[in-house]
Amino acid sequence: MLSVAEARERALAEFTPLPSERVAVQQARGRVLARGADALEDNPPFDNSAMDGYAVLAADLVDASSDSPVSLRVIDNIPAGKAPTVQIKRGCAARIMTGAMIPPGADAVVMIESTETDGGNVRILQSAKPGSHIRRKGESVRAGDRVLEPGTLISPAECAMLAALNIAHAEVYRKPRAAVLSTGDELTDLGAPLKPGKIRDSNRYGLWAQIEEAGGTPIDLGIASDDAEEVEKKIRAGMEKADLLITSGGVSVGDHDIVKEALLRLGELHFWRVAMKPGKPQAFGRILGKPVFALPGNPVSSMVVFELFARPALLKMGGRRRLFRRTVRAAMSQAVRPDASGRVNYMRVALTETNGRLCAELTGAQGSGILRSLIGANGLAVVDKGGVNAGAELDVLLIGEI
Ligand code: AMP
Ligand code: MG
Repeated sequence: MLSVAEARERALAEFTPLPSERVAVQQARGRVLARGADALEDNPPFDNSAMDGYAVLAADLVDASSDSPVSLRVIDNIPAGKAPTVQIKRGCAARIMTGAMIPPGADAVVMIESTETDGGNVRILQSAKPGSHIRRKGESVRAGDRVLEPGTLISPAECAMLAALNIAHAEVYRKPRAAVLSTGDELTDLGAPLKPGKIRDSNRYGLWAQIEEAGGTPIDLGIASDDAEEVEKKIRAGMEKADLLITSGGVSVGDHDIVKEALLRLGELHFWRVAMKPGKPQAFGRILGKPVFALPGNPVSSMVVFELFARPALLKMGGRRRLFRRTVRAAMSQAVRPDASGRVNYMRVALTETNGRLCAELTGAQGSGILRSLIGANGLAVVDKGGVNAGAELDVLLIGEI
């Protein structure tokens, strides 16, 4: 049996980042820069005031204080967005607003709270150092600076930075398009009445959301019955636009596990015995020249196997550098018995923090069909074959916010 780490390494070796495309800044959040971004403009583009106040010459105010104010003649009023026209000379000042251009001659700004108006004059109640309350041209970014490195994950701050530098489009890795197919004669889609022996198809909707969360675009291939011809037909029809395929169900050793038969007609498949629980029956391969993850049908298994294998693959295709979830140490609130099969058990837990210590509590019964165990789970506790005692610390993959 392969360990999860070995199996994942082998699978990820089959993936590379997709080609890049140009997207508008408004569409760039969550994407990864394929090319670095260089500033074409200084930011800020000119010296400007950090305060509402008066632009002055510091030399006029050397002895200014509230006991002996210095009176200056106000010769201009400069709101943000207007270029000053008047040179500030000794004995003069200009009223200036935050973000407005520093007028020629002035070398400091005194904030309005340290002044009193007096007709056409202003009384300044404190001295000023040259440069005070002035935001310098280019102090944030200089034209020519490399501002964002390739590989940067674009968050709202990067969008604002790009806009500040007049970079309207970013070159980012394309989003992976993942076709998703459910298989099984028992599956009924949402809305249709549930006939005897049938169940709802939940995997496709869970996987759909997982694909989107991993930065991918899902392509819905619907439900195929347990018929190799039909599975093959649905895959052929949907793969042209897809970068990879994700199926669920039909890969164990039952009579109706026709997904492997269909996939084998379309390409090659490696059946893996990965030492993990849930999710042992699974396969990875390449069909029609594209990678495929054949996930187990059990609802928890399909989502956990996606989490451990398909998610990092999608992230890698999208250009992400960090592919794996963060692992934290947490104390298990209850004991888990050793697992006779020798597999590592990924148990769904709710992590809570008290006084800086993390505690992991099972989210109820842990059967691979019990979808509810994923509700409220923000962690996957990694319980190895020896089990764990109550209160003992173990590694937990963080799959949500604590
Ligand atoms: P299989 O891997 O096809 O043997 O399916 C294992 C279990 O998962 C069976 O109980 C199936 O009914 C169930 N199952 C398979 N596909 C889905 C699905 N798309 N949604 C919910 N349950 C499923
Ligand atoms: Mg099945």
